[in-house]
Amino acid sequence: MNEVFLGVEKLEIAVYFLAVMLMLLSFSLYFIIHKMKREREKSKKLSALINASQVYTITWTTDFSKIEANKKLSDFLGTLGRTADENFLKLLFLDNDNTLGTTGSVLLMGALNKSGRKTAFALPDGTIKHILWKSKIISSEENFTSIATTGTDITEEHDIREQLNITTRKHESAKDSLDATAENADIGVFTLNHTASGYELEISSKSSEMLGLKEDEVSISALYDRISQEDKELLVETLHAISTGESNHANIEADVKISEDNTHRFVFKIKSTGNRSGNTHRITVAFIDMTNEQENIRLGSSSDDPLTGFLNRNGFFGNGESFLEKANKDNRKIAVIALKLKRFQKISTLFGIEIADKLLTVYARGIENCSGKPSLLGKMNLDSFAAIISCESKEEAELFASRLTDHIADSCNDTVLPAVLKEQAGFTIGVCFYDGLDDVVTFYNKANMMIYTDYSEKDYICRYFDKTIEERIYNRELIEQELHDAIKNNEFELYYQPKMSFDNSEITGMEALIRWNHPSNGVITPTSFIPIAEESGIITKIDEWGLAEACHQAKKWQDMGYKPLRISVNISQMQLYRTDIVSTIKNALSESGLDAKYLEIELTETMAMQDIDRTISILKEIQNIGVSISMDDFGTGYSSLSALKLLPINILKIDRSLITDISTNSTSYSIVKAIVELGNALELEVLAEGVETEVQSDILSHLGCTVAQGFFYGRPLSAKEIEKNFLEPLTPVE
Ligand code: C2E
Ligand code: MG
Ligand code: MG
Repeated sequence: MNEVFLGVEKLEIAVYFLAVMLMLLSFSLYFIIHKMKREREKSKKLSALINASQVYTITWTTDFSKIEANKKLSDFLGTLGRTADENFLKLLFLDNDNTLGTTGSVLLMGALNKSGRKTAFALPDGTIKHILWKSKIISSEENFTSIATTGTDITEEHDIREQLNITTRKHESAKDSLDATAENADIGVFTLNHTASGYELEISSKSSEMLGLKEDEVSISALYDRISQEDKELLVETLHAISTGESNHANIEADVKISEDNTHRFVFKIKSTGNRSGNTHRITVAFIDMTNEQENIRLGSSSDDPLTGFLNRNGFFGNGESFLEKANKDNRKIAVIALKLKRFQKISTLFGIEIADKLLTVYARGIENCSGKPSLLGKMNLDSFAAIISCESKEEAELFASRLTDHIADSCNDTVLPAVLKEQAGFTIGVCFYDGLDDVVTFYNKANMMIYTDYSEKDYICRYFDKTIEERIYNRELIEQELHDAIKNNEFELYYQPKMSFDNSEITGMEALIRWNHPSNGVITPTSFIPIAEESGIITKIDEWGLAEACHQAKKWQDMGYKPLRISVNISQMQLYRTDIVSTIKNALSESGLDAKYLEIELTETMAMQDIDRTISILKEIQNIGVSISMDDFGTGYSSLSALKLLPINILKIDRSLITDISTNSTSYSIVKAIVELGNALELEVLAEGVETEVQSDILSHLGCTVAQGFFYGRPLSAKEIEKNFLEPLTPVE
């Protein structure tokens, strides 16, 4: 009985258990189905979004297993008879002469180009469409990376740029043509054929008009008659000297009476333009009417700017003191605005002086309208203005700037100025609020100083004077002065950071990193002074010192019996382009006696791309000596894969920023992976900079990186400390 009861109980438990299991299963199934449905909906929504997008979109993976285009791109490719496939991606991201391979990773390097990739497509109707492609990594797996690439139609922008280029080219070719230049700049020209019977004058009607010569009196004697006795003697003498070959060219000034009551002053540029064999000899004379210039000089010494009607610099400073006094007395809050036009030089070259003048007038009227009353307005320089206005707050200054921007834009739209100028004509503003103490020159200088603290490409930007910025600027000036003494006083020192091989964990070389042992501020790292040294030009001296010192130290260690190691030295852009770097390297090697194979030069990628042709030829010369070249900070500013292929380099140094988050950021991981593959394809040594942890080291070694450098292995150390901690004697010391 008991047994029967127990049997029923067991059955009951089994049934309960089964029921619970079934319930759990159906719950799980429900959740799985629901999740799948959600995922499907999400992906449908995403596809719908991508399809609705007004930009061309293609998502793809580096193993090409998935390539999907949105509707806009598919339709577009359809009209071209193409499909969104591997070949289309190659068309977008491979350089023409690519021999680096066509793997997805190589395409990825091309796709991630910061400024994007541009392609041109010829449509069936013959028009050309220009598209700019930009890419973003969306996920990364062990074997492949997924990328989203979007294309924007930039045909219109491209055409405007072309127009601009044509204008520039026209302008340049006009420069070559004497006639055109003469026409534009009011330059006159005549030629003199010197024959046995004297000079024959050939002159255009416009030029003879400038000199006041009537059509029926075009002769050298008629010209002589109009020139004062003293100047005439000088002209005769000069022409004689040129026609006899005593000299080839000369500039003289002379007063010419161009009408009964009008005398103008001209500069004559006289040049021998024919050979002297035979009986005739040709002389060309170009001349410029200086009268207006002189008038301008006279006006300049008064207090008005003739173009804008504003006070000129003298006038502004002259009237400034009383303006400040009055504002003080009236208890009025004022600020001075220093305003500088951006790219003015370029605008004058591109559009011509007339447009440039028009732009200055538009600015002057704008400043006048936006300043309110009372105000003091000045034209301080070729392309800068000043305005002392009633202004209590930064908001009011911002308002001034934004109203002025609108005024310039309106003037461009109203076709007073060419619309393309709108893009070019920006300005920078420095603002200083009056403290009631400064004199007008100091007051203006404080605002003006702010202009040079900003190089932003924004249309306009206001920078406000404050004490800390002033101190920073003065500090900077101070550092610049001190840098000059630092070399003389032997205040620089090289530290060395080891580079370790992933193969055998041995030290393979060192990077020399400069330190400044400042007499009162202690050890200063290069990031604080190299930019100032670069701006002031003293960097070339510092780099020369560093190169010599590193070679000297490397040889010293070899002579002391340590295993020879390659030392790398950083060079600056200025050193590369503005000095004879090849001779500097040769000198450093010969003076130290170091074998070239133990020296490596590091230059950054951005530097190398500045002038690729020049870089290639300089680097080739350096390699020919036997010195290695590495590309520093690689992966942050790459421009073109084919450029990289052409550059004679031996080592790629992956930038620290990519290594820092390699274990947490899939984009960094994918980029590093792609760089390693690229380095292998180009048969380069690939070094990872800034390795700080074991995890980073493991990932890099797994990806196939060959050498590593970073705090994980060793910080930059003085020569003495490196010797103690890292160098191995060739024959162990007993
Ligand atoms: P760089 O050539 O990219 O040098 C690597 C910089 O990263 C060094 O900074 C080094 O101390 C630092 N670093 C190395 N490993 C790690 C790490 O694991 N973590 C972190 N957070 N940082 C690490 P340093 O010495 O301050 O040099 C900065 C830059 O100054 C150098 O960048 C180089 O461009 C420039 N420089 C250094 N010496 C010279 C020189 O003699 N001449 C010129 N023209 N430039 C130099
Ligand atoms: Mg370096
Ligand atoms: Mg670096």
